[in-house]
Amino acid sequence: MSDEARGPEVITQEEIERHHQRLLREAEAAGYHLNPDVDFARLLARGLLINARRHGYQACPCRLSTGVPAEDRDIVCPCDYRDDDLDEHGVCYCGLYVSGAVARGEQEACSIPERRMPADQRRQGTAAASPDESEVPAVRALPHPVWRCQVCGYLCARTRPPEICPICRAGRERFERFM
Ligand code: SF4
Repeated sequence: MSDEARGPEVITQEEIERHHQRLLREAEAAGYHLNPDVDFARLLARGLLINARRHGYQACPCRLSTGVPAEDRDIVCPCDYRDDDLDEHGVCYCGLYVSGAVARGEQEACSIPERRMPADQRRQGTAAASPDESEVPAVRALPHPVWRCQVCGYLCARTRPPEICPICRAGRERFERFM
């Protein structure tokens, strides 16, 4: 039966398990961890598949998506807020991704506050962040610090360095502030 004929909510167990396995592989390869509670992670994998069918992209299963790509860009999984939430709380907003400490059972996963701003504030923020054509990019203030992996040279701009380098898998302690 085609996806259209059966509706977006009808997802087979096999599809959910396959997607969960794929998310697991991709997370571990990039130095991230999925929630070790398999049933819970599969529930979220199902939500991602439903949204992918509805909108054509995997909008966050725990947030209200609009179906307008430009409005939902920040909540396409993994969302823009995942890394800061993992650093601060050890889980992403939905709880699909967890820190190493949570994955190893050293820290408990809990529900966390929403970091995403309301739509009107997000729009204002985007407008304010739009580059001024007269401005030289090199001298514009960077919105995030840039971190460099001292092992392989991987660079990333984010609040804190990643827990594990996605390229060489060196730990956070091997990162230095680059800019
Ligand atoms: S909160 Fe978690 S599951 Fe939701 S989009 Fe962000 S990373 Fe994905």
